[in-house]
Amino acid sequence: MVSNPKSHQAIMGAPGVKGKKVTVLPKDGLPDLIRSVISKRQEFKEPFYVLDLGVVASLMEKWTRSLPTIRPFYAVKCNPDPAFLGAIAALGSNFDCASRAEIEAVLSLGVSPDRIVYANPCKAESHIKYAATVGVNLTTFDSKEEVEKIRKYHPKCALLIRVKAPEDSGARCPLGPKYGALPEEVAPLLQAARTAKLTVSGVSVHIGSGSTDSRAYRAAVAAAKTVFDAASQLGLPKMHVLNIGGGFTAGPDFDAAANAVKSALQEYFKNEPGLTVISEPGRFFAESAFTLATNIIGKRVRGELREYWINDGVYGSMNCILYDHATVNATPFACTSNRGNPTCRGMRTHSSTVFGPTCDALDTVLTGHQLPELQVNDWLVFPNMGAYTAAAGSNFNGFNTAAISTHLAYSDSS
Ligand code: PLP
Repeated sequence: MVSNPKSHQAIMGAPGVKGKKVTVLPKDGLPDLIRSVISKRQEFKEPFYVLDLGVVASLMEKWTRSLPTIRPFYAVKCNPDPAFLGAIAALGSNFDCASRAEIEAVLSLGVSPDRIVYANPCKAESHIKYAATVGVNLTTFDSKEEVEKIRKYHPKCALLIRVKAPEDSGARCPLGPKYGALPEEVAPLLQAARTAKLTVSGVSVHIGSGSTDSRAYRAAVAAAKTVFDAASQLGLPKMHVLNIGGGFTAGPDFDAAANAVKSALQEYFKNEPGLTVISEPGRFFAESAFTLATNIIGKRVRGELREYWINDGVYGSMNCILYDHATVNATPFACTSNRGNPTCRGMRTHSSTVFGPTCDALDTVLTGHQLPELQVNDWLVFPNMGAYTAAAGSNFNGFNTAAISTHLAYSDSS
C-alpha cells in the first residue's frame, strides 16, 4: 500500500514511467534498493540515479496544501529527466520552458501548449517561430528588441513583463544581473508592446534560485504591483497574471516562503479579482527526489589523508558545485569489505578528498570530508542530487553525464 493511492496511480500511468520497472519502497527502504542495484551491477560499476517518485508526489501535496491558489509551472531546466517530467505532469503541474527543446520534451508527454510558459526573456527567432507553430502563447520579455521579435514571429503571443525584483542577496544563484526591466524601463517597454499591438497579460519576477530569505517574496510582489499600477495608468488593458518565479526550497524554509507569498498577495493584490498567480518552482520539486550512487574507481593513501576517485564529478552531475554553488554530501556503501556493516556505522573515519574521474584538478568533489576507510569498488552515495545536476553535465574526457541511468522507485511515506 502507498499513502496516496490516487497520486501513485496517476504517476504509474504517466509517460516516461508507464511500462518501466518502479520499485515500491517501504519507509527508509532506499538504502536496500541501492544495495540491490549495486549487487546486480557487479561487473558494470557505472554511476546511477534513483528517482523516488513518492517524494515527487508528497512534494506536490505539500505545494497544494501550502499554496492552493498558485499554479506551479515546473522549471524544466532544473531537471528534464523524462520520468520526472511525466510524473509531475500527471500530478497536474504545468511547465516553464526556456528553449525549443524543452518545449518539445514537454509536448511529447501529451501536455497541451496552454500549460507552458515560455519563460525566457531573450529567445532565438527560430525558437519563437517554433513556439508559434505549436501554440505556446505566453512568454516573458524585458527588452524592446524582444518585443520586435515577438511582433514579427509570434504576434498572437501574450506577454509577461519580467521586472527586476529586489533579489534575495542570500540566494544561491542570483538572476537579477541578467534579467528584468529596471523601474524606469517599465513604462517604455509597456508602450513598445502597445505600439506592436501585443498584449501584456501580466508581470514576472524571480527572487533568485535557492532563496534563503522569505522576505524577498514580499518585496518582489510589491515590485510587481507597481507594474500593474503603471499599466493601468498608461490605460493598457487590465493585467491578470502574476508570475512569482521560482526560488523555493523543499526544506524547513518552505513554510516561511509560502506564508510570505500569501501575506504579500493579500496586502498588494487583494483588490485584483480575476488575478491568476503562477510560479516556476524547479529546485523545490527536483532536489530531494534524486539520489546518486557513484563507484570508487581509485584510491591513494598519504599519511592520514585518504584520496578517492569516483566515476562522476564536477564535469558531470557535480557541476552543481560550480554552477549552482552547491555543497554535496556523501554516504559510504562499503561493498568490498565490512559486508556486515556496509554503511560503516561507528567505524573510525579519516579526512578524505573525493575527486571526479576527469584529468582536471578542478574536478574535486569533496575535501576534508570524514569517511571511513574505503576501497576501490566500494560506493559513495549522494542524496539530494536532483536540482541543476545531470541537466548541466558534460561528456568531457568521455565521461558522459547523459548516459547515467535512472532507477525508478516509489517510497511509501505512510
Ligand atoms: N524560472 C526562471 C525564469 C529561472 O531562471 C529559474 C532558474 O534559474 C527558475 C524558474 C527555477 O528556479 P528554482 O529552481 O529556484 O525554483
